[in-house]
Amino acid sequence: MSDNDPQGLYRALGVQSSATAEEIKSAYRKLAKETHPDTSQHASSEKFHSISAAYEILNDPIRRAEYDSSAYRASAQEAKARAIDPICCSRCGQVTAQPRYVVFFRVYSFVVMTTRRPIQGIFCASCAKKEGLKSSIITLVTGWWGAPWGPIYSIGSILSNGFGGKHERSSDEGMIWYNALAFLSRGNLQLSYALAMQSRKTLNKDIAKDAIELIAQLEKAGVDTRQGKLRNPWRTSMLYRAGHLLMAFALPGTLALAIFASTQGSRASTSYNGSRLYSSPPSSAQYQPSVQKAIVTPNVPKCANVPYSGQLLGPNRLSTTDGHSLEIRNGSSGNAIIKVRAELSGAVVAAFFVRSSQTAQITGIPDGRYTVQYAFGDALDVSCRRFVQLDGAGQFPGVETLQTEQTATQIITQVLSYTLYAVPAGNVTPQSISAQDFERQ
Ligand SMILES: [Zn+2]
Repeated sequence: MSDNDPQGLYRALGVQSSATAEEIKSAYRKLAKETHPDTSQHASSEKFHSISAAYEILNDPIRRAEYDSSAYRASAQEAKARAIDPICCSRCGQVTAQPRYVVFFRVYSFVVMTTRRPIQGIFCASCAKKEGLKSSIITLVTGWWGAPWGPIYSIGSILSNGFGGKHERSSDEGMIWYNALAFLSRGNLQLSYALAMQSRKTLNKDIAKDAIELIAQLEKAGVDTRQGKLRNPWRTSMLYRAGHLLMAFALPGTLALAIFASTQGSRASTSYNGSRLYSSPPSSAQYQPSVQKAIVTPNVPKCANVPYSGQLLGPNRLSTTDGHSLEIRNGSSGNAIIKVRAELSGAVVAAFFVRSSQTAQITGIPDGRYTVQYAFGDALDVSCRRFVQLDGAGQFPGVETLQTEQTATQIITQVLSYTLYAVPAGNVTPQSISAQDFERQ
């Protein structure tokens, strides 16, 4: 069997079966545009559906893995009737007796964007170890720098890569059995026997039954039964796994220390340029404890997907290309919503969410004069844009004037930085504002 595109899915998209996830995506986009009934005069809804169906499977690394390995199915009858090629590693091209179909992940992050890119295919054990290491090193360099998914995906992917990548037992076993038959058809009875010995215990009952039958026949044919066990090339060394563990946890550890050190530092200095430290409005006494809240609002539907830190809530007037930045470090124990209002009109230029103990930054604030307001709360309502109940709201004193400066060589924008911190005796007391003042549009 030489065709590894059994249902023609790769052919439908016009790509090789070794195509990367990006190549598949861009081929799909191009074809979808050409054939979509709404956008093209060469529209063909039949073609559009077939490429969409192909893409749905090939775009999902796990479904793609299943599809690819389904190409390797053969029966003992087939193997006797004709020669079958044993499976080759998709990287080095060598015949590999014990292949696996493995998915490794590389994580790329930038600010709030994180993508996880699958690297997948049939590997020999040695190429798989190299690919796992390479993907983890790339992730180590590029994966962390996005909130909040960067670190989460990075740790998960590095650990998965370090422990052999994602692979399905059923597909591993299917390929071993395929190879047992392939070596049988090529006359390498000893290797066929060793692989059949592994296939005796597969999940797939039919394969297990056929394997036992084949073993009996090969033993009758006089194979050396003492050589029925192959070395497992997939076992990784302690060093290999320890290296991945180190990559997964060394950087978050270092970062946590750095963040800890920097919060200690900024607590001490209250007046470095552009940065202000405020105490959050007087603590719990003024606010209703959450137990009471639950009684007051028993049946209000809640927000299903709590926004990430820095997620904009609703329409905004931010520029996507330039403008000033606002950074909020939420050192309080509650989630916060921040609103930037134009001083004169009071219009909301941007509203965004900052989770408890996290920092968020937005950019693109146009030149102007602004007040910055915040509110603390617990659960968000169903719109995910306001708290069911405010635990308190305030406004940083003064008006911020943001003005872009231009020199001969550069454009200078400003970064405002505020810390919401539950310091009992903060040096500046922010102004408390009413819920209505905060909610007004
Ligand atoms: Zn290889």
